[in-house]
Amino acid sequence: MSDKLHIPRITKDVLKKYKFHLTKGLGQNFLIDGDVIDNICNAAEINKDDNVLEIGPGIGTLTQHLCEKAKKVVSIEIDRQLEAIHHETLPYNNLTLIYDDFMKVDLIKLFNDHFLKEKVKVVANIPYYITTPIVMRLLEERLPLNSITVMVQKEVANRFSSLPGSKDYGSITVVIRYFADTKLAFIVPSIVFIPQPKVDSAVIVMKLHEHPPVQLDDENLFFKLVKGAFGQRRKTLVNSVSGTVPEIKKDELLAIITKLGFNPAIRGEKLSIHDFALIANELNRLSESAQRL
Ligand code: SAM
Repeated sequence: MSDKLHIPRITKDVLKKYKFHLTKGLGQNFLIDGDVIDNICNAAEINKDDNVLEIGPGIGTLTQHLCEKAKKVVSIEIDRQLEAIHHETLPYNNLTLIYDDFMKVDLIKLFNDHFLKEKVKVVANIPYYITTPIVMRLLEERLPLNSITVMVQKEVANRFSSLPGSKDYGSITVVIRYFADTKLAFIVPSIVFIPQPKVDSAVIVMKLHEHPPVQLDDENLFFKLVKGAFGQRRKTLVNSVSGTVPEIKKDELLAIITKLGFNPAIRGEKLSIHDFALIANELNRLSESAQRL
């Protein structure tokens, strides 16, 4: 490995040598702890057969370890100022650097060109200002992914991995659960970054399902129901959904949840993904039979 960037003095020297000014708006908090980086690679179970996609290499601290451990790494960085630094810190034959905004990259093309349709693991210390858009884009584009192992704010990690009934449980938890099993791997204190963020972080591992955990007759209706259920969190499921999703009729939803044996005053936060799927499929059956009449 070229000079080990996880040693704080080396990171500081690199930043000084290149007169690099950190951009707060891009979430530039660089890791300076070798153990945390090893733990990230272990949580992602990276080995020499693996293709890895990294989002936001920064000066290349995690990237160095990924290149040492994986078969191939593609890393997308928005900040072109880092290119000169990468020439020094990332001399790896198995690495492709792409300077672009992750949210704008054509991911299907990138996967076809670089990973030849093989499965990929995402491993990244992602910028916190776009955590959810990044994760949702990775999931919704239905890319050939094995897993997503990312550092996020601790409170976001709790939201992504919580269970029904907990205060952190919300529509994003259910939507993510549809695509992957998510576990909080470990907590990361703010002192392992330069500069230190205001909040603690956590690494989560999302293992993508081969098949979704529930059978849905209409995915869009399911997603609308789930979002609507948490749209007005303090209200009952029926009131929250009918207040936020006009196409779902209040009396029909009430009739369906009663028929399925739920308490008519139940709130969305008490329902599992299986409960939401049951209700969404019943709503779909009802609208299909209404269309046939
Ligand atoms: N991986 C490095 C580390 O662990 O030290 C840096 C992580 S830092 C939290 C996030 C990185 O993402 C920064 O380098 C930042 O410039 C980059 N970034 C921010 N927004 C981005 C975007 N939309 N697309 C790609 N990279 C982005």
